[in-house]
Amino acid sequence: MNDFPDGTVWLVGAGPGDPELLTRKATRLIGMASVIFHDALVGPGVLELAAPDARILHVGKRSGRHSKDQSTIDRLIVEAALAGERVVRLKGGDPAIFGRATEELEACCTAGVAVSICPGVTAASAAAASLGVSLTLRGLARKLTFVTAHVRAGEPLDLDWSDLADPAATLAVYMGKAAAGDISRQLIAAGLRGDTPVALVESASLPTEGQFLTRLDLLPLVARTALGDGPALLLIGAALRGALPLMARTNVAIGEACAFAA
Ligand code: SAH
Repeated sequence: MNDFPDGTVWLVGAGPGDPELLTRKATRLIGMASVIFHDALVGPGVLELAAPDARILHVGKRSGRHSKDQSTIDRLIVEAALAGERVVRLKGGDPAIFGRATEELEACCTAGVAVSICPGVTAASAAAASLGVSLTLRGLARKLTFVTAHVRAGEPLDLDWSDLADPAATLAVYMGKAAAGDISRQLIAAGLRGDTPVALVESASLPTEGQFLTRLDLLPLVARTALGDGPALLLIGAALRGALPLMARTNVAIGEACAFAA
């Protein structure tokens, strides 16, 4: 079976950073690619799996620092495939979760280029695993919502807060670092308790990982003072209460410390 002939594209989920969290299929496809276009969030250990003669091109976007716009990335992928390359478009986490996969799929289809998706471990799963918690909790968290807090520069964060402020749900907020203050205020205003548990996990699965456990009303302070430069995921809801024993074990909680600082 050759599922990766010349002139075709795979959108491959690179997972949260740890190369061991790649699927076997992703590992194989990365090794077969003649050219790889990757995001800023793809860990260096993952890129080491490329063939020695593969071309590796960084087309990363980090908020505020867009090195290539989406239409340029779409065009580069299509052009490489039409030139007969085996193209891997390597994306952090899962390509189908806040990954602009639709634009790339459409660009390929429009150009008549065969394209497929290889899923990956999304940041919320990796963060929950690091914290040692389940994102769902029988009776307490029956719903899991993935939401992005990313907005275009100058635009307000326009989310349905009354829908998100569900005490029986877990909220996984992607790209939520800058909006942490807004998220906390709006969820509390919409009825979520201030002592709702919150975990922030930065660079989940990487050696530089940081975990911070706090509560919704202290989230703005913790996000402002504790986080570094890495990608960070916010997990909010009763299911995170299970992370508390870990807090005692690893002494990573700063919620109490921040209560004094506030
Ligand atoms: N497709 C990716 C998400 C891309 S959006 C996925 O499925 O995970 C980028 C956001 O994902 C970041 O701003 C951050 O909120 C989150 N993220 C990605 N990798 C992460 C990591 N290793 N640790 C914590 N959050 C991460």
